Amino acid sequence: MHVNLLDFDRDGLIGHCASLGEKSFRATQLFRWLHQRGVSDFSQMTDLAQSLRQKLALSSCVQGLKPISQHQSNDGTIKWLFDVGDGNAIETVFIPEDDRGTLCVSSQAGCAVGCRFCSTGHQGFSRNLSTGEILAQLWHAEHFLRQRQGSPERVISNVVMMGMGEPLQNHQALVPALRAMLDDHGYGISRRRLTVSTSGVVPMIDRLAQDCPVALAVSLHAPTDALRDQLVPLNKKYPLSELLAACHRYLEFAPRDFITFEYCMLDGVNDTLEHARALIELMHHGAGRGLNAKFNLIPFNPFPASGLRRSTASAVQRFAQHLQDQGFVTTVRKTRGDDIDAACGQLAGDVKDRTDVSRRMNRSPIPIAVQKSETRPHEH
Ligand code: SAH
Ligand code: SF4
Repeated sequence: MHVNLLDFDRDGLIGHCASLGEKSFRATQLFRWLHQRGVSDFSQMTDLAQSLRQKLALSSCVQGLKPISQHQSNDGTIKWLFDVGDGNAIETVFIPEDDRGTLCVSSQAGCAVGCRFCSTGHQGFSRNLSTGEILAQLWHAEHFLRQRQGSPERVISNVVMMGMGEPLQNHQALVPALRAMLDDHGYGISRRRLTVSTSGVVPMIDRLAQDCPVALAVSLHAPTDALRDQLVPLNKKYPLSELLAACHRYLEFAPRDFITFEYCMLDGVNDTLEHARALIELMHHGAGRGLNAKFNLIPFNPFPASGLRRSTASAVQRFAQHLQDQGFVTTVRKTRGDDIDAACGQLAGDVKDRTDVSRRMNRSPIPIAVQKSETRPHEH
């Protein structure tokens, strides 16, 4: 069995090279070929000794992800759907802005948390992604974009772990992937521009602070336990008091001096002025007291099975204004890529449904626009 080199951060690659009898600076050279240059063919790694290239060819491989489709929106947003086997697909999204390029990365096929308003949650959990599968999303996107712009200049400046899955329920694979993203010999993403988003896996928030402190976003969505229990079932295990205490602790280690709270705006469910007041109460007098927080309101991205509706623009505005008036920096997420967008996780869910249905009905799967290998410039 060949070892996938994308499964390693640089320390891991140093260990792998040591097992081949190679010095650590060789591993660093190899790491740079893989991640800075996007090269997967050992024969092109011209400054590595022939003997090392041979050893690598015998023991190792560079296993990227297989794209099922690539959709580009009029506003420049690109969404990839990757096949991860057994009828599972994951999504990766690139969002270009004037001053940055952000990649939204998935951590699991499906998700076990099962939030009411989340298409991924409705699909259930299939499996954790490996480090290589997490990192290959950035590898694929970055080198595709560089090739498209025709220069080796970096395109992706920010990574958000906000794709499919709960990253902190896949901590073991996540951490080496984050380290490779941060590594100056890899992608050189700054800690402040690398964000892990979590629905609130409290013990793992503490672990992340120890293992790899990066910017943290917490999916709050409700000001009370009664409501959050219904929207984010994990809240029954880790209620708001514990979650907000973990946020306080995290800030001692975080590269930023605030936590971002995401709040998905659901019509009539969590978006009234009463809810905004309850949220302020929580932040001023409850478990959130003294916590430096910013709010990011996300207009709900509807999908049929949810039975939920997006808040009206005026409800979002009223909610945002109340938080602002009470001293919290609040942003409303722009909906991007609407013309290609299904709710995050929905395209992948469609693949799974069709695969399941076609298995049941014995039909051929996935009649989606398939882009050919031009989208994988570094596969050989
Ligand atoms: N599991 C992690 C990260 C992935 S979800 C988490 O829950 O934080 C990333 C963000 O998208 C979360 O804030 C999540 O609540 C939000 N989200 C999920 N489904 C959504 C939908 N249909 N519309 C709008 N936001 C959604
Ligand atoms: Fe999982 Fe996040 Fe979706 Fe909740 S919102 S089901 S935690 S991916």
